[in-house]
Amino acid sequence: MANKVFYEVKLSPEEEKIIRAHLERAVLFTTLDKAVNWAVNWGRKHSFWPATFGLACCAIEMMAVAQPRFDISRLGYEVFRASPRQADLMIVAGTVTMKMAPVLRQIYDQMSEPKWVISMGTCANTGGKYHNYAVLQGVDQIVPVDIYVPGCPPRPESLIYGILELAKKVEKETGRHFNLGPYR
Ligand code: SF4
Repeated sequence: MANKVFYEVKLSPEEEKIIRAHLERAVLFTTLDKAVNWAVNWGRKHSFWPATFGLACCAIEMMAVAQPRFDISRLGYEVFRASPRQADLMIVAGTVTMKMAPVLRQIYDQMSEPKWVISMGTCANTGGKYHNYAVLQGVDQIVPVDIYVPGCPPRPESLIYGILELAKKVEKETGRHFNLGPYR
């Protein structure tokens, strides 16, 4: 039997770094959990189902994104749902009055998990020009906001940009595969 010869190659830290960088480009290192997470997030980020819900003038711009000129169906987000139970994206489009705030929160609670919120326009973001007791000074006081779209009103392109930013955020999420939440 032929004698086996082993050679030990000593690498400097720089050489190790270069080889590791090459390997990471050429070889896919992953785990089942990461692969599932990637696939789930990929599906979610391409198929938000927004709740049909508008509060004031910003809602007109929100409606425009579903029309042929902007055509949000190109991106897979056109399925506006009339029931919050079938929606996973709340776009708060308009002024949130104190009277409407509990209703908005109830709709949010009824939405299916996992769910996301986009605050659209200055009114939803901060109360806007309505700095008074009748208007909520920012919808993030009652629901967790993922993306803020500035403007009064924001153009439909701004909302589309906001949704695409949300998609980037969802892409990086972990640990939300099986969180179905309480059924209501
Ligand atoms: S931000 Fe401007 S356009 Fe939007 S709801 Fe408020 S006042 Fe109307």
